[in-house]
Amino acid sequence: MSPEQFGAAVLTWYDQHGRKDLPWQQGITPYRVWVSEIMLQQTQVSTVLGYFERFMAALPSVQALAAAPTDEVLHLWTGLGYYTRAGNLQKTAQLVVAEHGGQFPTSVEQLTALPGIGRSTAGAIASLSMGLRAPILDGNVKRVLARYAAQEGYPGEPKVAAQLWALAEQLTPPARVNHYTQAMMDLGATLCTRSKPSCLLCPLQTGCQAQMLGLQTRYPIPKPRKQLPQKTTLMPLLANRDGAILLYRRPPSGLWGGLWSLPELQSGDELNALALQQGLSLGQQQSMATLKHSFSHFQLTIEPRLIHVEHSLSAVAEGDWLWYNLATPPRLGLAAPVKKLLKRAAEQLSAGQLHTGEPS
Ligand code: SF4
Repeated sequence: MSPEQFGAAVLTWYDQHGRKDLPWQQGITPYRVWVSEIMLQQTQVSTVLGYFERFMAALPSVQALAAAPTDEVLHLWTGLGYYTRAGNLQKTAQLVVAEHGGQFPTSVEQLTALPGIGRSTAGAIASLSMGLRAPILDGNVKRVLARYAAQEGYPGEPKVAAQLWALAEQLTPPARVNHYTQAMMDLGATLCTRSKPSCLLCPLQTGCQAQMLGLQTRYPIPKPRKQLPQKTTLMPLLANRDGAILLYRRPPSGLWGGLWSLPELQSGDELNALALQQGLSLGQQQSMATLKHSFSHFQLTIEPRLIHVEHSLSAVAEGDWLWYNLATPPRLGLAAPVKKLLKRAAEQLSAGQLHTGEPS
């Protein structure tokens, strides 16, 4: 679809299906459009309707808002949430009165210099209330365009945002920009919805890349998951002559609470201390492949080591320690990676690999 075809398709759809009866679409002024846009930023249309009418009845002009007691503004905002919006609203009203003679400035640059007005809100005010050719890219429009272009990359990244803005700019038609802007917002809100877009009813379906690929819900690409903190632990699998491995029971609360686990150590010194405590002498050692395990709040890299041990005469595992017989495993609750490591150890021991390892 060329930009001309895109604009024409959107406008035809607007004529047939676009919303035309919203209260801020009546008696349109920059003030009314601006207040509605700020209210709609984090809130659904159905909720905003009542708030908008009450707000306009109490504060019908930018002068009235500028002069109102802050408590009155907050009272009218109560229940809409995100109260910094209300504070910014009044600050902007005061600036418009003090510095712009009570008239909203007529360029996107000047509008975005006012508190609480970002580029998309400025574009909405300029296009909806002044008929200026200014693109918008609110959440709904971002979704439509990201799907239309099968835009790769998270739109929160400046490079990706710049590409979407360039596309929005390119597709915004020169005429009827107010209807076009309203239609794009409506398309995103009613057809190109987050989880089940109604592509069959969409005027853009013949040009929509995501639709053609059958990948509508892949776009917009979600925020990449934050890299989890990394932790590393040494897990010795201390194997006695009978092929049993020393386990201990974790405390009832916390990670792997009450499950049986391998000792978790940070150094060779801690390993020697453990051997001393359990009356063991350490023999041949063999590294095993590292194992990664993800928890909700960190990623654990386990460095397992299979170590042959001899008991001293008096050594008996007791309390929260036991020798876990790999040939006849007792029925115990085991942490998932521990279970995996015990299986590997059993395979290595039965293959006799332990005895081919280098002494430490
Ligand atoms: S065709 Fe479907 S995915 Fe593409 S813009 Fe329309 S509703 Fe959204």
